[in-house]
Amino acid sequence: MREFPDILRRNRTFIILFAVMVIMPSLLLGLLSLRAIRSESVQRQFKQKQRQRQIAGLLETDLKGWLFSPKLNGAVSQSLLRFTIDDSHIVFPDFRFAIPPERNATQVPFASSKRTLRNKEPLNEVDASLDARTIENLYYPRIQAFLRDRDLGINSSAQYFLRLKAMVVQFPGTHNGYVLGSSQLMEYAKRRLDDLTASEDFYGVFLITSPGGLAESALSGAEVVTLNDFAFFRVVFTSKESGGFSFQKNILLYSITLMTLVMILGVVFMYRAISHEMAASQLKADFVSAVSHEFRTPLSSILVLVERLDSGRVSEGDMLRRYHHTLRQETRRLGVLIEKLLDFAQIQEGKRKFSFERVNLAEISAEAVGLFRESDQAERLEEIHFGPATPTYVLADRTAIVQCMQNLIENALKYSPSGSPVRVRFGRRNGTPFIEVLDQGIGIPRREQKKIFEKFYRAQNARGLNVQGTGIGLALVKRIMEAHGGSIAVQTTLGMGSSFSLLFKKPLEE
Ligand code: ADP
Repeated sequence: MREFPDILRRNRTFIILFAVMVIMPSLLLGLLSLRAIRSESVQRQFKQKQRQRQIAGLLETDLKGWLFSPKLNGAVSQSLLRFTIDDSHIVFPDFRFAIPPERNATQVPFASSKRTLRNKEPLNEVDASLDARTIENLYYPRIQAFLRDRDLGINSSAQYFLRLKAMVVQFPGTHNGYVLGSSQLMEYAKRRLDDLTASEDFYGVFLITSPGGLAESALSGAEVVTLNDFAFFRVVFTSKESGGFSFQKNILLYSITLMTLVMILGVVFMYRAISHEMAASQLKADFVSAVSHEFRTPLSSILVLVERLDSGRVSEGDMLRRYHHTLRQETRRLGVLIEKLLDFAQIQEGKRKFSFERVNLAEISAEAVGLFRESDQAERLEEIHFGPATPTYVLADRTAIVQCMQNLIENALKYSPSGSPVRVRFGRRNGTPFIEVLDQGIGIPRREQKKIFEKFYRAQNARGLNVQGTGIGLALVKRIMEAHGGSIAVQTTLGMGSSFSLLFKKPLEE
């Protein structure tokens, strides 16, 4: 993890690009859409409020016309209890009372006001034996509004008695009026409001309350409009949308979701890139230490042998031969390693040239096996011909294929118990020419079977074995086979053994 800042530094351009091309535009997009939606919804709300006030105004005008109209279709025709106003008294057909009520007033014959409206709604019953105080409590304090048309200088009044649920209306410019039950008023207002809001996306509900008698906070999301001249009439407007999931809200939700998705994807993408880079740098570090180790081992044994030979102490012919044999083997090992590294570098840069020729699989296989003749593992190797007895020819770069086989045989010997057989099989299977190397070794864990063909990759179980390796052999083989239009395949069972096959494109005619 200490390499993390390093990786960040190396990926700076990518991170900056990502921030500029993905994160910043999505943030900007999000902010812009938020702003657009907000201003849209503010405008919409503003327009809606304006419209609601308009409707409340229309209702009020209408209501006034209806209430104060002396015509037949007006409220008058529906009211029964008419009165006139005589100086400071309201005079009903059977009784009168003073405005304001006189403190010292004695009994008022209210009993006679037990009248019924034309639509059979009983007007309130009032006890005839009420004293002035009670009358005052019942009536006067309940009067909520007086209307006065200042322009025309006409006085009129509409007074609502909460307790009686009745409205006392005075004709404009006259001293006459009538009493109207509130249910009629409500009914009329409801019908009008329904008409007025039919094409709107909100409803209107008509309420009669005392000023301040409506807890507006209790109507969250609703708009309450008080009619100008009737402080006790209110219209509560509520949205027709159920659940409140408007189009705008949906757009906002979608764009936020999209933005979050883009960000998550970006972060995942970046995390993957960085962890990939970390794994690659770990592989490289392992590779460097493996290569140095591979060089050091033969070099140090060469040095020891040469020193002993120099000292002149080794004179016996047999011993000398053994020393020379080991020296040759170690030098060869170094040569192979250097060759492998150079080949790998060349193939990585795409500089490796192949010279294709017609080759016999049996010959190639024998040549590769022959390379191990002098090694102390020679007797483990076994060659098997597979399929038709006729020789199989393919178009291939002889040296490159021998090199591939050499890698496979070395691996088979390395990753299997000493003494166990390693078989080289070649021939044709279902028409496909192949050469394969089989061992009875450690096998490869399933999840690593693809990775072993990546450069520098070494499987977990191989690393635990304390067997030297650089992790470039199979990568090299894979590239060479791809250059031949063929492929490499592996079949392996953990702890049982593996078989690596070089598969060629098609056989050549004999
Ligand atoms: P190395 O130099 O490590 O052998 P290779 O590229 O040749 O590199 O092989 C990559 C890895 O594949 C090895 O480290 C080992 O884990 C695995 N591998 C290759 N051949 C065999 C085999 N015959 N048996 C088991 N594991 C093998």
